[in-house]
Amino acid sequence: MSLIEHRQLIILGAGPAGLAAAIYGARAELKPLVITGMVLYGQASLTHTIENYPGFPKGIGGMELGQLFEEQAKAFGTDFLFDEVQAVDFSKHPYKVSVYGGDYTADALIIAMGAYAKKLGVPGENEFIGRGVSYCGTCDGWFYKDKDIHVVGGGDSALEEAIFLTRFAHSVTIIHRRDTLRAGAILENRARTNPKISFIFDTVVKEIRGTEGVEELMLENVKTGEVSKMPTDGLFVFIGHTPNTQLFEGKLEMEPDGTLRINSNMETSRKSVFAAGEIADSHYRQVVTSAGMGAAAAISATHCLETMSCGF
Ligand SMILES: Cc1cc2nc3c(=O)[nH]c(=O)nc-3n(C[C@H](O)[C@H](O)[C@H](O)COP(=O)(O)OP(=O)(O)OC[C@H]3O[C@@H](n4cnc5c(N)ncnc54)[C@H](O)[C@@H]3O)c2cc1C
Repeated sequence: MSLIEHRQLIILGAGPAGLAAAIYGARAELKPLVITGMVLYGQASLTHTIENYPGFPKGIGGMELGQLFEEQAKAFGTDFLFDEVQAVDFSKHPYKVSVYGGDYTADALIIAMGAYAKKLGVPGENEFIGRGVSYCGTCDGWFYKDKDIHVVGGGDSALEEAIFLTRFAHSVTIIHRRDTLRAGAILENRARTNPKISFIFDTVVKEIRGTEGVEELMLENVKTGEVSKMPTDGLFVFIGHTPNTQLFEGKLEMEPDGTLRINSNMETSRKSVFAAGEIADSHYRQVVTSAGMGAAAAISATHCLETMSCGF
């Protein structure tokens, strides 16, 4: 495929990390190109209201916040390409980024392709996202004050989030498909001794039902096959998170949890290739932290391009 264009900086992804990187890269006059992928504004666009991003005391719609990021990035000279990255060739510099529409080259890259929460894949799940089904306790816990809610999962993140959710909820019931938890002993002990937390073991959610919001779960005991109904005010699913790193397997170093390995300058294992947001962070996973990483990556990219210290 023929080369379309060369850029100093290409940003892969248009979530909070990519858009914050674009604002900083554009203000450094790098004229960045943002390749958006299929989810313009990223995961944040999937949520109705974001109440924990600083500067918006009454909250702001996820889509609206993304539009403001985009407007700000464009105001300083960012270009947007609505296409999806198919491959990145790191074998020679400048690096080649292939999208459906052609090939681009860049002196520096910021990879901000995010991650996605693993889903249960049961009827009702997609229908009730944001209306009783959530994948983020920090984001949505506040909406469940004094409610009776359920958590699916048995690992560290499920227990951590369940304990966090007891700050708000009246009760938190953890549903786990096995009869033992996979979490660390301290966390398990903390969850088991929390008076608001109870457990249903050997059980999976088969269906999520409701009208305006989630009202009940259909559960199945995996040992007896018994099916039962469980009333609920909300379901939090914590069965894992998958960073969008498939394109970089064997090309960039990864952490054991599957995120891209970066140093404190947001540099990956390759010179002049930076990463930011959830593709490189499985711990904080917030709009503000992802945007902060994006800003840091753009500052580092600017420094490496200005000082020719990128190593090429
Ligand atoms: C339902 C929900 C509610 C949430 N609520 C809140 C909240 O209230 N407060 C909060 O702080 N956080 C919240 N979060 C978390 C927050 O949205 C994420 O932490 C944040 O969006 C991560 O930003 P990111 O830029 O790293 O990645 P993402 O937001 O995942 O964006 C990734 C970007 O990469 C692009 N991309 C992917 N593959 C390709 C490809 N091959 N080529 C090009 N581009 C690609 C996508 O199209 C997208 O634009 C919520 C998350 C969800 C799912």
